[in-house]
Amino acid sequence: MTMDAAALIDALRAAVGAPQVLVDGDLSAWELDWRKRWRGKALAVVRPGSTAEVAAVVKACAAHGASVVPQGGNTGLVGGGVPDDSGTQVLLSLSRMNRVRAIDAANLTMTVDAGCVLQVLQQQADDAGLLLPLSLAAEGSCTIGGNLATNAGGTQVLRYGNARELCLGLEVVTADGEVWDGLAGLRKDNTGYDLRDLFIGSEGTLGIITAATLKLHPKPAASLTALAACANLAQCVALLALAQSRLGPGLTGFEVMGDFALALVHRHFPQLPRPLAPAPWTVLLEYADTEGLDTARTRFESLLEAALEQALIGDAAVAESLAQSAALWHLRESIPLAQAEEGLNVKHDIALPVSAIPAFCERTDAALREAYPGVRLVNFGHLGDGNLHYNVQAPEGTPAGAFLAAHEHGINRIVYDAVQAFDGSFSAEHGIGALKRDELAERKSPVALKLMRAIKQALDPQNRMNPGRVL
Ligand code: FAD
Ligand code: ZN
Repeated sequence: MTMDAAALIDALRAAVGAPQVLVDGDLSAWELDWRKRWRGKALAVVRPGSTAEVAAVVKACAAHGASVVPQGGNTGLVGGGVPDDSGTQVLLSLSRMNRVRAIDAANLTMTVDAGCVLQVLQQQADDAGLLLPLSLAAEGSCTIGGNLATNAGGTQVLRYGNARELCLGLEVVTADGEVWDGLAGLRKDNTGYDLRDLFIGSEGTLGIITAATLKLHPKPAASLTALAACANLAQCVALLALAQSRLGPGLTGFEVMGDFALALVHRHFPQLPRPLAPAPWTVLLEYADTEGLDTARTRFESLLEAALEQALIGDAAVAESLAQSAALWHLRESIPLAQAEEGLNVKHDIALPVSAIPAFCERTDAALREAYPGVRLVNFGHLGDGNLHYNVQAPEGTPAGAFLAAHEHGINRIVYDAVQAFDGSFSAEHGIGALKRDELAERKSPVALKLMRAIKQALDPQNRMNPGRVL
């Protein structure tokens, strides 16, 4: 069927009201991704205000043979949330769907529209005396729908799990434009296949998430943050084991920052504090206690003293206030921004068994330096989860764009072959999107791919939901 664009735009206007259908002017806020790597051209940007309107948009698209690309905060890092350049896809922005529908304190849940910004939800949970423990550097603009569509991780996965573990239910508009209401906040429900878990992490390719019921947690009584300096990754791994044995589930965050990653932060954001002298590795630890601040501080400081005695760390600094703690996190969270300032880079979001990380880095660092003399390794991430952002920046003075175009494929091959050799994953938390689709086709087992394609075919037989992404 050839598409009648004018008739489709009329149908979209009828579905959501003419002012919420954007076709002219500068649409780059929706058409260009956060990394500025993918720029598409949408047939229209449509901004429904309710689940019924989302369903009407999907039905209109189906009737006219158009595909739909859902978008939340457009902070995704794998090119999954912007349209392709065909000018035929409808960009469906969830950003106007931003209501908190209910907070149930006794059930420890909140039910929210998909377009709610994560930070707003954290605040609303906090106002209710509870904790929504999903946290990532993009929280000021990413949406909960995007978090669930990508099964986002972030900085508290160690204690609370990733977005999947924080979700009890979903409301989804299917590829036919029907609404599946699975929002009941049940912790137990074994009535057949788990549809919720199918949509979580599906990156808009199976349906559109319009609302979610999220798990909340009691707020910890005290929370403390520290930086510690390590001479090598093996020490970081040993420190993790010591911290886990001393702090148990109280250890909520364990992040590492390589020296070059932190150097980039200081180069591009010189106003940020430098609590420790530069070291090969700087670890950020966060500890949350259900008892009071004094008990927590004693336990936390005694962990760091033991680490010093065992020569796992060379130096440490514990934040004295919430403001200082936020400043330490700010250092960590500024790495992606500093990298973007430095120029395009080859990003890897890999997962490995924690125990394999030192050997993996030793081997892969050496292989990259040999193949691409002068490359700069921006290595940082969620060591507690075995998840590294193992990024490769062009040699100093080399134009980043040209380096990326020429060498991304070769660099990926070295890194992903090593990941595979160590039984890791080439996408820990950012997803597949457009960026890693070929990698998925090449590296996932044939049986897994066959099952994934069968699911896609069953839920979206016309291939209208974010086509060309993931599979
Ligand atoms: P978008 O970018 O709009 O979309 C992402 C994908 O989800 C697309 O495929 C889109 O089609 C789909 N989608 C969006 N909304 C819906 C919906 N309602 N229904 C169905 N599909 C939908 N990620 C992590 O996991 N951990 C991190 O620590 C982390 N840190 C980051 C730091 C920075 C500075 C930045 C820019 C990004 C970071 N990310 C991280 C990646 C990104 O923030 C997350 O993937 C986030 O969850 C995306 O949310 P979003 O609303 O921006 O989604
Ligand atoms: Zn991350």
